[in-house]
Amino acid sequence: MALARTLAMTLAGISGRLVEVEADVAGGVPGFTLTGLPDASVSEARDRVRAAVINSGVPWPVRRITVALLPADLRKVGSGLDLAVAVAVLAAAGAIPTEPVAGTCWLAELGLDGTLRPVRGVLPAVAAARRAGVSRMVVAADNAAEAVLVEGVDVRVGTRLADLIAWLRGSGAPPARAVADPVAAEADPGPDLADVSGQSPAKRALEIAAAGLHHLSLVGAPGAGKTMLAERLPALLPPLCDDIALEVTAVHSVAGLLDGEASLIRRPPLQAPHHSASVAALVGGGSHLARPGAISLAHGGVLFLDEAAEFSPHALDALRQPMEGGRITLHRGGGAVCYPARFLLVLAANPCPCGARGRDCTCPAAVRRRYQQRLSGPLLDRIDLRVEVDPVPASDLFEARPAESSRAVADRVATARAAAAHRWRAEPWEVNGAAPGAVLRRAPWALPHRVLAEAEAYLRRGELSARGLDRVLRLSWTVADLDGATVPTAEHVREALFLRTTGRSAWAA
Ligand SMILES: [Zn+2]
Repeated sequence: MALARTLAMTLAGISGRLVEVEADVAGGVPGFTLTGLPDASVSEARDRVRAAVINSGVPWPVRRITVALLPADLRKVGSGLDLAVAVAVLAAAGAIPTEPVAGTCWLAELGLDGTLRPVRGVLPAVAAARRAGVSRMVVAADNAAEAVLVEGVDVRVGTRLADLIAWLRGSGAPPARAVADPVAAEADPGPDLADVSGQSPAKRALEIAAAGLHHLSLVGAPGAGKTMLAERLPALLPPLCDDIALEVTAVHSVAGLLDGEASLIRRPPLQAPHHSASVAALVGGGSHLARPGAISLAHGGVLFLDEAAEFSPHALDALRQPMEGGRITLHRGGGAVCYPARFLLVLAANPCPCGARGRDCTCPAAVRRRYQQRLSGPLLDRIDLRVEVDPVPASDLFEARPAESSRAVADRVATARAAAAHRWRAEPWEVNGAAPGAVLRRAPWALPHRVLAEAEAYLRRGELSARGLDRVLRLSWTVADLDGATVPTAEHVREALFLRTTGRSAWAA
């Protein structure tokens, strides 16, 4: 037999794509032609496959070898195609039977000595294999725990190419079936809100942010506790549902961050990129592989930008598209890649370059203004909650009453979320933070004048913009949900007004 076919998998964003691998071994001038890969990867793949086969004790066929990766116009990335290419060549050369390899999907990089090496993105690859009706897959041992997170595919664990050859020839044992780890480690819940003394207004803002998925800004002097607060926000969010957990785990898989972990990521993640992070590190990209950035690693969780004013304007601007659509499309040579990026944004900023507040500040007014303008209007427009964080007074450090735990707050958040999800059950969003202002201003959601009287007074005095009113409306519904009310009252609106105007600085405009 001179022609053999088998299956492999490549990635487009967090979606696996099935690749058909065709090998033809014919007479003529010996050589090895590989088509369907980007130019740079072809020679590397050829060299690895040839060395791995020879070092597995099988002579390399001295014939004219042609391997095609199909469909040809599909962009293929990574080294996970190595194993499938080796298997196809060996089958076409008659070294192993063609029939048992045809319906199997092979996903591993080959070491020069013939060992199977793990690759990124195995979770989405196995999910795609199941969708495509592939019944059997072979992966490297270090990818086994991740591969079995998707049920319905017979996943086998290979260690060495030589063992796989012996099995296919009928002279060796079949590779072991990958089995789920029965005691998947429970992820660390992270720091608890109970450890933070005082800070009642900021804690209240965290609870409202979590309940309505309202983006949040924290403005305060260095050392006021902004980071401590932001780090405790993910634990207030409900655990991720099955679909989102799969997406989040897939993003981490593609980024190579799973470390052989054997469970789906159920806890909302926290990403806190440094202000010197490049645009690619923040939103994704990179020269060859379009890797997911911090915004996609924060999918389902919290993106915390400390010292937000220090981020490059270009980087902050790049957040706008994903904040609108909940996903990011990266354009790279050869095609576009899409990653999910639905995150809760927390911006922390100093009130001015010197970091001091009020009378202690030595910055000229023009410098303060320029500094505060570094956070662009369009980005601030999406921040419903703006809170000033003051250093905790010494008296608060010795509160008699123990502070509330994250668990207790998370329970209230979950109840409020359920109420909002029920309200918006016929809409494409399920949290108040995503409700368009136009919808909230119309029947049946418009609030009566007696409830809105105070907000309307702010509007008349020019202390609240039309967009600001929309933010107040969104917050009012969340405050009402946390209070167990079906409709916001004037009292709920008052708290919402306070929460978006608490800052006296330009950040809160
Ligand atoms: Zn200053």
